[in-house]
Amino acid sequence: MKNKILAKFAELFGEVPALYAAPGRINLIGEHTDYNGGYVFPGAINFGIIAAIKPNGSSVSRVFSIDLNDYVEFNVDEEIVPSQQWSRYIYGVCREMIKRGGKVGGFDAVFAGDVPLGAGLSSSAALESCFAFALNDLFGNKIDTFELARIGQSTEHNYCGVKCGIMDQFASCFGKAGSLIRLNCKTGEYKYFPFNPEGYRLVLLDTCVKHVLADSAYNKRRESCERAAAAIRENHPEVEFLSDSKRLWLDEVRDKISEEDFIRAEYVIGEVQRVLDVCDALERGDYETVGEMMYQTHFGLSRLYEVSCPELDFLARLARKMDVTGSRVMGGGFGGCTINLVRNELYDAFVTAAAAKYREQFGHDLKIYDVVIGDGARKL
Ligand code: ADP
Ligand code: MG
Repeated sequence: MKNKILAKFAELFGEVPALYAAPGRINLIGEHTDYNGGYVFPGAINFGIIAAIKPNGSSVSRVFSIDLNDYVEFNVDEEIVPSQQWSRYIYGVCREMIKRGGKVGGFDAVFAGDVPLGAGLSSSAALESCFAFALNDLFGNKIDTFELARIGQSTEHNYCGVKCGIMDQFASCFGKAGSLIRLNCKTGEYKYFPFNPEGYRLVLLDTCVKHVLADSAYNKRRESCERAAAAIRENHPEVEFLSDSKRLWLDEVRDKISEEDFIRAEYVIGEVQRVLDVCDALERGDYETVGEMMYQTHFGLSRLYEVSCPELDFLARLARKMDVTGSRVMGGGFGGCTINLVRNELYDAFVTAAAAKYREQFGHDLKIYDVVIGDGARKL
């Protein structure tokens, strides 16, 4: 990929550029916890974006996307948003950096990536983090890494119409090979935990479906959580977010909230605890417990939070049946991938069976992504 990018850069712009990279991410556990002020537990992966970039001394940037075979020019000093969707992730990063007092001049860039688009591995965060990191470096801004992640997040909000949390950009900026990062979504505190699953592989199975329910269901879940937290807060004023609550405190308000709000809250409080349990297990190198927690999360997302779908349940059930160590839906639900922790000796049998049975059941193919935890945004 690097050589292809450099060759294209030479063809379009000539002079020798600098190379930067930033990855997509997985989240091992901690789903629907972010807006509840809880933990997420992401890591950067071995799929990412690589960009060749060189300042050109003007205020006009010229950017070529190899994967989309598309070219764009924009003036970084003007609030004129380019029309091509992909270029907004880059233009937005420039503007958000300038808003924060950073300097961004015109540059020439060629980029490509191998994060599958829209599969839940956050190709958009990889793109934002790559340019945020690169432009910070190239123009001598001294913006700290967390703020670079926020630049990506604000880009999604203000230029791409996606009201996302901070996890994806955070993981893409802060990732470290052999580590997952537990992020407290309320305070921004984070801590690295070792993730070296020797004898196991991490594999994502992409259902290649996205059910339309996702947006309205998401809002309904958020409202349930807010109502449950409000009820608990009457007894325990320190409960700002649902994740601040103990399980016992939820039981106290069982009669005051709907059954639906109760089971949603039950999932969230359980999930926050599971992240902590997984971190403990990782410090002991106990991957069997990690896997068991993943199944519990899947159960919770499917039966309590009700954001799964037949395709995801099918894959998680198959994993359980085949004695895979851990499996669960990753991301918001209603489609996307399952993330699976599989012992090496089971790997071939599992992915072969999953691919065949999935096709037989649903009439189309799934996709398989082998992931390894890698480094965050960096200069190559
Ligand atoms: P994801 O879940 O992968 O982040 P999004 O819909 O948020 O999905 O972002 C995907 C968008 O990001 C693409 O439609 C494209 O505009 C941009 N993008 C990501 N990767 C690339 C790439 N390699 N080349 C060009 N654009 C990309
Ligand atoms: Mg995205």
